[in-house]
Amino acid sequence: MLIDRFQRQVTYLRISVTDRCDLRCVYCMSENMKFLPRASLLSLEEIIQVGRCFVDLGVTKIRITGGEPLHRRDILKVFRELGELEDLRDLTLTTNGTQLTRFAADLRSAGVTRINISLDTLRPERFRALTRNGRLEQVLAGIDAAQRAGFDRIKLNAVVLKNRNHDEVAALVAHAIERGVDISFIEEMPLGHVGEHDRAECYYSSDEIRADLAEHFELLPTAESTGGPSRYFRIPGVDTRVGFISPHSHNFCDTCNRVRLTSEGRLLLCLGQEHSVDLRRVVRANPGDDAALKQAIVDSMAIKPQGHDFDITAQPVIFRHMNHTGG
Ligand code: SAM
Ligand code: SF4
Repeated sequence: MLIDRFQRQVTYLRISVTDRCDLRCVYCMSENMKFLPRASLLSLEEIIQVGRCFVDLGVTKIRITGGEPLHRRDILKVFRELGELEDLRDLTLTTNGTQLTRFAADLRSAGVTRINISLDTLRPERFRALTRNGRLEQVLAGIDAAQRAGFDRIKLNAVVLKNRNHDEVAALVAHAIERGVDISFIEEMPLGHVGEHDRAECYYSSDEIRADLAEHFELLPTAESTGGPSRYFRIPGVDTRVGFISPHSHNFCDTCNRVRLTSEGRLLLCLGQEHSVDLRRVVRANPGDDAALKQAIVDSMAIKPQGHDFDITAQPVIFRHMNHTGG
C-alpha cells in the first residue's frame, strides 16, 4: 500500500518558497539567471495547505528553503501557521543569513527550532566573489542575531570548491567552535548550468576535506543521522558537530527520508532525478480540498526512485538549479 510506504519512508519535507535571492552564488546561479513569474509560484496559503497535509500524513519535520526564503514577502506568515501544527516536531530554515538581523527573533517566536546558515568563507573579498557581490559582515551579523534569538541548534553550511575556498575548511571549523554551532561541508552538486567555473575542476571531495581537517582536529565518527546525506563527526571537548554532505562520493538514497516541494509546487521525489508530481495543479483544481491533495501526495510514492546518478564530468542532466529545488 502506498500510504504505508509513505509513512515508512517519508518523514521530512523541504519546501522551497521562492527561486529568487539577493545573492548569486557561483555554484548555484548563473549571472543572468531568469526567475519564475510570480503567478507560477505557490501562494503563501497554498504552501501552508501543502505543509499541513504532509503533517496530517505523518511528516514530522519541515524545512523552509529557497532561493532565499527570507526574501519572499510576508514569509513569516508561513512560519507562524506551520509553527502552530501540533504534530510538526521540527520546523527549520535554510538561509543565506543576510536578513537574519531583521527576522531571527520573529522566526524563533513563530516556532522555528533550528536554522542552517550558508557560510563558505570568512574572507570579505572571497565572499564577494563567491556570492557575486554579497557582504560578509551582513551575514556574520545575521548569525550573531540568530545566536541571540536562542534556536535549539544553528548549523553553518559551506559548499567547498577547489581553489576557491578549500583552504579555509579548518578556519571555518574553528569559527564554528568559537561560536558553539555545528558546521557541514557540502560537495558541489551539478544542478543546472552556472557558466562560471568547471565543475569537475572545482570538485573537492568530503574525504579530502576530512583529511585536511584531521591535521588540525580529532574527528570522531558518530552514529548521529538526520536520515539524509550527512555523516557527522564530533570533536572531543567541544559541542560542535562536523558534517559532510557527499552526494558524489557516498550514495545516500537508501536512507533518504525526504521529499522536496519546488516553489512552483512540483513535488520532487529525488533531488537527482526528474520524477515529480504537480501539486500546484491539484491544489488549484480542488480549492480547499485537503483530501484530494493528500491522495495526490500518497500516490506520488509510486514514482519515488531508489537511486540517483550524478556525474560531475558529464553535462548536467538535471537542468534545475539549486535555487529552484531548495537544496
Ligand atoms: N539561500 C539559502 C542558502 O543559501 O542557504 C537557501 C537555499 S540554498 C539553494 C540551500 C543550500 O544549497 C545552501 O547551503 C547552498 O550552499 C546549497 N547549494 C546551492 N547550490 C549548490 C550546489 N550546486 N551544490 C551543492 N550545494 C549547493
Ligand atoms: Fe542564493 Fe542560497 Fe543560491 Fe546562494 S545558494 S544564490 S544564497 S539561493
